Amino acid sequence: MTEDITEAGGRLRLYVATDLGPSLTVPPSEAQTHYLLHVMRAKAGQRVSLFNGRDGEWLAEIKAASKRGLSLTCLKQTLGQAGVPDLWLAFAPIKKTPSDYLAQKATELGVSVLQPIFTRRTIVARVNAERMTANAVEAAEQSGRLSVPEIREAVSLEKLLAAWPKERRVFFCDEVGATATAGDAVPLAKAARAAPAAIFTGPEGGFDPAERDMLRAQSFVTPVTLGPRILRADTAALAALAIWQAVAGDWV
Ligand code: SAH
Repeated sequence: MTEDITEAGGRLRLYVATDLGPSLTVPPSEAQTHYLLHVMRAKAGQRVSLFNGRDGEWLAEIKAASKRGLSLTCLKQTLGQAGVPDLWLAFAPIKKTPSDYLAQKATELGVSVLQPIFTRRTIVARVNAERMTANAVEAAEQSGRLSVPEIREAVSLEKLLAAWPKERRVFFCDEVGATATAGDAVPLAKAARAAPAAIFTGPEGGFDPAERDMLRAQSFVTPVTLGPRILRADTAALAALAIWQAVAGDWV
């Protein structure tokens, strides 16, 4: 039996941490083993695709599937390794929209790093990096990515800016910028530049005036507007990522 295990119309894709190469044996994780054996009823001889963020995508065959577990053997490379544009999203997590949702959507939209920020008005007390990673892996598998975004520990805005790599331009989504008071915010579609880049979005209450001044004072920051309406932080993050990808990323 050599047919593929399929999901959503295509061959099932699984992200693994181990190396991929000719005839290498790959031990799936416990969760993947459970999924293959008990949900997908996988049988020896069936095939899946594997990727690990380094070695491209490999066709792999299920070996020795039994109640005790299964292993996968790499057959051939089906795609060479390809990355995503070097675009980070630094976002203040917000209530109601779990960061999981944002992790999934930002992964589909091709970010390379997700950096939660704690700002003065951030209501969310903590971010579950493990859950965010699991959501990012699932979105990478579904979206055909060959990499999973790096999910960093949440930090304060001050700490993030103090350690910021100066060559990475920050597009600071400033909802106030669209008004006369601080009219220097420019439309992101006009300002978007090639990588390395980062998009910053604030929490439900926005950045506070001192934070906005701190951001505007940095040579590597460009305040941008996303139009005349106030978007929810998750809407703003996804809209900004889409604009940047369309203008300066890999949607061209
Ligand atoms: N301060 C607003 C809400 C902030 S919206 C209020 O209290 O109503 C949350 C974040 O989304 C903002 O910090 C900003 O980063 C982004 N955002 C929302 N609408 C925007 C717009 N029109 N232009 C630029 N950024 C926007």
